[in-house]
Amino acid sequence: MDTLIINSNDKAGMKKAGDIIKSGGLVAFPTETVYGLGGDAFNPSSSKKIYAAKGRPSDNPLIVHIAELSALDRLSDSIPETLYKLADAFWPGPLTMIIKKLASVPDETTGGLDTVAIRMPHHPVALELIREGGGYIAAPSANASGRPSPTLASHVSEDLSGRIDMIIDGGEVGIGIESTIVDLSSDVPVILRPGYVTEKMLSRVLGHVETDPTLMKKTEGGRPKAPGMRYRHYAPKGDMQLFKGSISEVADAINRKLSASSRKCGVLCCNESKDLYHTGYVRSLGSRNDMDSVALNIYRALREFDDEGIEEIYAESFDTEGFGQAVMNRLLKAAGYNIINTEGTK
Ligand code: AMP
Ligand code: MG
Repeated sequence: MDTLIINSNDKAGMKKAGDIIKSGGLVAFPTETVYGLGGDAFNPSSSKKIYAAKGRPSDNPLIVHIAELSALDRLSDSIPETLYKLADAFWPGPLTMIIKKLASVPDETTGGLDTVAIRMPHHPVALELIREGGGYIAAPSANASGRPSPTLASHVSEDLSGRIDMIIDGGEVGIGIESTIVDLSSDVPVILRPGYVTEKMLSRVLGHVETDPTLMKKTEGGRPKAPGMRYRHYAPKGDMQLFKGSISEVADAINRKLSASSRKCGVLCCNESKDLYHTGYVRSLGSRNDMDSVALNIYRALREFDDEGIEEIYAESFDTEGFGQAVMNRLLKAAGYNIINTEGTK
């Protein structure tokens, strides 16, 4: 299959994108979080195609993207008050909410679950595509399963060219990591995936909110409630280790690793520390005082390491306050929870 690439301000192209969705095809599109791979959420064969194009396990459910609140009526007949409160505060935006689904929402879209994950994105191109495509777009991130999520259209074509009908190029995304997921299908709201909308922001609206205990540490028996969190995710090709400690402790430990290794090494660091490393492919994510920039650069940097053929990646840790929790969750997963603690070594 030839994959057509269009620019997001090509009006005729956007109409065509909508037609592709309505006739059961797949279109990758920019959102404010990462690029998504969209298909008609009510067409089981579109959802099957999404799994096939990504190489994604079929029990890992998709998020249904909508452009208006009234679209909820076809997805659920038991919409909790909490959804409306959060929608009022954070939609359109980087928040996904899980509620009980109607039987008419295909099992292929929800991975066989009796719940559905819903998001109203903020990105104008995503909203236009949803409207042109019939109102309901099932979309996971537009990467090959297991690879870092795409923040540029070129990342999507690297992974999916020849496997999908169209890519809409809307430039670099705004946030760079996936939406926050909150489960509203039982009594207490539970965060299943941290993102730009933090626990604090959610609890300001809802009062008590819990965070799935398996998110920030490797657990043996613990089974994450978001099925997607079970799988190896966001992973670069090289072996990645995450170092905890002060900047100078971490830099010393990483420099020792760099001198001892005979493999091709990369360092994932920040503006404040980048001059402390004398060898290896050194990639700063931005300033520690600007977590928005750090988040935006994570996946791009991991893909650059792959392009450079880096075999070992040494990464600094970041503070887990606020949005930092989402950043560390992605780094922990990329590193397969391979953590080296340097605290107290200096
Ligand atoms: P992705 O689009 O690749 O970021 O993946 C979507 C995420 O949403 C996956 O981690 C899924 O496990 C999660 N998700 C989607 N629907 C549900 C649901 N009904 N219950 C729990 N998690 C869900
Ligand atoms: Mg994904």
